[in-house]
Amino acid sequence: MADVSLKHVYKVYDGGVRAVNDFELDIKDKEFVVFVGPSGCGKSTTLRMIAGLEEITAGQLYIDGELMNDVEPKNRDIAMVFQSYALYPHMTVYQNMAFGLKLRHTPKEEIDERVKKAAEILEISELLSRKPKALSGGQRQRVALGRTIVRNPKVFLLDEPLSNLDAKLRVAMRSEITKLHHKLQTTFIYVTHDQTEAMTMGNRIVVMKDGFIQQVDTPITLFEDPCNLFVATFLGSPQMNIVKAELFLEKGVLKAKLNNSDQQIVTFPEIKAKQLADKKYIGGHVLLGIRPEHVKPNEGDLKVYVEVVEHLGDETILYTKMEGRGEQFIVKIPFDSSIHANEEINIKLDMNHIYMFDKETQKSIMGIPHEDMIPVQIKDDVFVIGKQKIKIDEEYQKHLLDQAYIGKNYLAIKPEYISLDKTPNSLKITAKLEFIEEKTDYDALYFSLSGIDGYYALKVKKNTHPKLGDEAEIYLPYAKLVIRDEENNRLNSREIVYPNKFDARVSKKNGQMMISVAGTTLTYEDKQEVEEGEYDLIFKQDQLKPLFNKKLLKSGLKNPEMSNPHNVIKVAAYDEDVLGKKILAYVAVSGSENYASFVLDNNFSVYKMPKFSLYVPEDAFTLVKKQ
Ligand code: ADP
Repeated sequence: MADVSLKHVYKVYDGGVRAVNDFELDIKDKEFVVFVGPSGCGKSTTLRMIAGLEEITAGQLYIDGELMNDVEPKNRDIAMVFQSYALYPHMTVYQNMAFGLKLRHTPKEEIDERVKKAAEILEISELLSRKPKALSGGQRQRVALGRTIVRNPKVFLLDEPLSNLDAKLRVAMRSEITKLHHKLQTTFIYVTHDQTEAMTMGNRIVVMKDGFIQQVDTPITLFEDPCNLFVATFLGSPQMNIVKAELFLEKGVLKAKLNNSDQQIVTFPEIKAKQLADKKYIGGHVLLGIRPEHVKPNEGDLKVYVEVVEHLGDETILYTKMEGRGEQFIVKIPFDSSIHANEEINIKLDMNHIYMFDKETQKSIMGIPHEDMIPVQIKDDVFVIGKQKIKIDEEYQKHLLDQAYIGKNYLAIKPEYISLDKTPNSLKITAKLEFIEEKTDYDALYFSLSGIDGYYALKVKKNTHPKLGDEAEIYLPYAKLVIRDEENNRLNSREIVYPNKFDARVSKKNGQMMISVAGTTLTYEDKQEVEEGEYDLIFKQDQLKPLFNKKLLKSGLKNPEMSNPHNVIKVAAYDEDVLGKKILAYVAVSGSENYASFVLDNNFSVYKMPKFSLYVPEDAFTLVKKQ
């Protein structure tokens, strides 16, 4: 029995490989959580950090509320099952299962009781006297599970435990493990690259890619509302079809032209058209997604050429090409022997099940978004949201990067965090509730904001709708509120952002301007605009460049070009925060008592080089004369 909680967990390997970034997850007691994603996305690393087999670079791991970062693996009360089940060949099944307990000096009678009970749960009681070589693959895997069950761990960690088994056995063991989870009533964390395993086994699935969590949700919600193109195409078999499309309005009705072809036009039903969050896409190109099971053959006026027909028992899969286009388009229908390869057929897309993605960011832009992205401008201490001007919470404002104050950005928040009930420490916005979409697990309410085109979603429990059409207050908890730029970089940091302000003295000699700051002297050509004297020097957050050590230079990182290699400040970092393609390094500046925060490229991590120098180009600071 255990809750497992990961807070902003990072893993940076030697050489700077960022295997896991800002991993945030609360796993509830008795949950079966699956980490899924392509090879190399950081699943095993995360699991190994939970097990204690891999050091956590930054962030915290809690098991039952207790900080585990520095607790020895053997004292974490967890058990890990690996893909290679490494049974001792010279021991019987009983001895294999008892071995760990014996090492821990568990009394003989208790060992006997636990081994027999585990064998019963796994239905291997009759195999206890056999040696591993006399077992099938599936039986060996069960013994490996038995070896961990006897220890009564609080948490089970399973790393691709079925990948060495053949396809048929894998399917059988899938349900065995699910049953085992029911019987043991323990927290399970399961790693796999196989989407079917994930979809069939997990209560919740964590989809990962390139070291980042993409989406966490129940299988059904991930399937119904994928947050981006990656999740949409990773889950589901055969995978979702993706078609290039241009959106346009005809007499007020939203339509799309597929593959640049005037012959291929689809029309959105009103409920879908309304769910297009940002009207800027109308007139532009997007990616449309439709699952193979939501395409009907021999109807409608889209034409496809059938290349291959596969009959799989009660269903038929058509591999087709759309007119004029090379990309495959798959259709899945109940068994049908009337359609043949090498013929052209008409198809109709069920537009109630259409998905839409931004072609650059690949985020879902129709239906329940992963995050509502509400346009915002920040002016001094105010959020300007359409026609509303709302004062920003003082504490929150201390976490805003300089870039947050420039241009058009977004308030990003997951629909499930927005509340209709008054919540403390929240941004209160007035919204109009416009329409409802009923989902399997919840209802989605869409609201509009005065002065902004488009609709934003919030999730409520089924059948708890307030009255629609009315103005209502909605509450966005500051703790969950993210500011993003157009490129999806985060512009609010986890820790307080320091103003980067330092005492400086400017002096001049021989056409040069010398700035003494933080115990160093920066020298530039004297451009006359600044006179000698005492100043406040403010380093711009995003203009200083780190100098790398030999090891990092070898791994391919490059130092900036420097017109004066002495123009550097030395810093010691105490943390970093991944913002997207950038990181924010929190540093103490040597030669001064001040702290500072710098935005650097994310190919660098302060965890691999906590002390470093930053090159200060000529335009990387401003000087304000002291009064
Ligand atoms: P997955 O389990 O999703 O296949 P891993 O967690 O094994 O992914 O790996 C994530 C990333 O970390 C990969 O880029 C991998 O090459 C890298 N990696 C894993 N182990 C090490 C290591 N010991 N040293 C350096 N890089 C590693």
